[in-house]
Parts: sequence; structure tokens; C-alpha cells
Amino acid sequence: MTVVTDRASLATARAALTGTVALVPTMGALHEGHLSLVRSAKAAGADHVIVSIFVNPLQFAPGEDFETYPRDLDADVTALRSEGVSLVFAPTREVMYSHRVRVTVSPGPVAGILEGASRPGFFDGVLTVVTKLFHLTTPDIAVFGEKDYQQLTLIRQLVTDLDFGIDIVGAPTVRDADGLAKSSRNAYLSTPQRELALTLSRALHAGAADTVDPLGAASTVISDAGDAVELDYLELTSPDLGEPVAGDQARLLVAATVGSTRLIDNIAVTLSPEFTAHSSPRVHS
Ligand code: AMP
Repeated sequence: MTVVTDRASLATARAALTGTVALVPTMGALHEGHLSLVRSAKAAGADHVIVSIFVNPLQFAPGEDFETYPRDLDADVTALRSEGVSLVFAPTREVMYSHRVRVTVSPGPVAGILEGASRPGFFDGVLTVVTKLFHLTTPDIAVFGEKDYQQLTLIRQLVTDLDFGIDIVGAPTVRDADGLAKSSRNAYLSTPQRELALTLSRALHAGAADTVDPLGAASTVISDAGDAVELDYLELTSPDLGEPVAGDQARLLVAATVGSTRLIDNIAVTLSPEFTAHSSPRVHS
């Protein structure tokens, strides 16, 4: 496995990779969720997997956790080596943004809801850095987690609308045994906060189990947790996030803050014919 940090070394190492190449973009502090993406890349037919590790300043607003975001390159490299990754690209901020950023990717209407409503500019930053990584690594396949469902949806739109010609693979969310979605930000949680954080996955599973009123069932679990789980949004949408719920497939998405840690999660929901979109209103804090 080759580890590179600058553009010239990346170009040389990339040129040496033949066959089908997959990119797995990450911000590091890797856990089983990230490693599952490497396995998904191989299952999708990749001969070589490139993993990028870059905490992208463009997707953090002032006051968010850019400075304190967990970073551990040595541990990440060790984990990726044992997964059979071919190439790790871990650039500095100066390598990625060697000049003032002038042109960014405009992510369209889906970026204005859910995460985008709470974090203005977030998806401009995500799609801009992913575009740069796509150009720098020229993959055939790129793998993203369903954990960040809205991000996955927008990246599919990016490659379709701007003709990237890259196959986007979505990988299922990896959870701890008790249901908590694995996340680099879970490292911020104290033991009691981690217990409260379980409210999110419990609410989603309660929602998915109630095919008539998923939003009502999920909302009850969140309310029962009290004020320590500060709800940002709980929404039931179409699977593509673009239309009101129609048909029997939907996505239930939640964001909440526990202590000072903002957590997100989501789940697929199958609706029964008795479901009506008005059985529960959208739930916001
Ligand atoms: P991040 O390092 O948080 O930017 O995430 C990098 C990639 O890993 C994204 O495609 C995420 O959706 C994915 N990811 C993060 N957590 C998980 C998880 N628990 N299960 C599956 N994929 C994940």
C-alpha cells in the first residue's frame, strides 16, 4: 500500500494502478463503517481501492468542529493496510486548496432541506471536494455510505447531472451491536451521552416497524428521551428525497444534538396501503 500526500506522488501512484479502480472518500478517524466501504468497493468489482483522508474545511461552518475533528493518520493507515487498500491519499489543506477558492459546485434543491437547512453551504463544500477528488484520482467506481443518505443522494445527482461517468455504490450503515450508527463523532460522547444517542436508532427502528404511522412512532421515542436529546429534524421523505412520499417506499431521517455532538441517522421504511402522508405532520424541533 502506498501513502501519498501531494499531487505529483498521487498522479504517479494512480498511473501505476491498472484495471478497475474505486475511490472511497473519508475524513479519517476510520471505523468499521469506513472499512465496510472498502469491502463494498471490492465486491463491486474494484481491482484497486484508493482511500482519501481529508478533513475538508469547506464543509465546516464557523463554530463547527473542524479544529477538534478526530484525526489519527497512523491508525487509519494501519487499518487500511489490513483491508488490502492499494493507495491512500492524505493531502494537507494547502495541497487541496493551493489557492483561494473561487468556483464551487452548486448542489441544487435537495441540498436545501434536512442537513442543508441546518448547515447552509455544507453540501457545496462536500460536492466541491468530491469533484476535486474525482478529478485527482479518476476512479471507475466511488463508494459512499447510506449513513450520510442525503450526501449519497446528492453525489448520485452530481455524477448524473455533470456526466462524471463514475459508478456510485451506496453501502449500508454499519452499527454497533446496540444499534448506534458508527461515526467518527461518537468519540465525543461520554457514556451517559452515548446512551442518549441510542435514541436516534431506536426511534428509526420504531418508525420502520410501524408501517402506518412511522413518523408518529419515531417521534414518540424521541419525545420520551426528554430535553437531553435536542431534535433538529425527523422527516419521512421519498427515497430520492425530492418528492412527497408516494408508493410504499420511503426514508426516515433524523438529526439531533446530544451534549454538543450533532448526530444523524436514517432508515428505509416500507409503508402499508393504510399509510397517509398526513397521518403525522413533519416533526421539527
Ligand atoms: P466521513 O469520514 O464521516 O466523511 O465518512 C466517509 C464515508 O464513510 C461516507 O461515505 C460515509 O457515509 C461513510 N460512513 C460513515 N459512517 C458509516 C457507517 N456507520 N456505515 C457505513 N458508512 C459510513
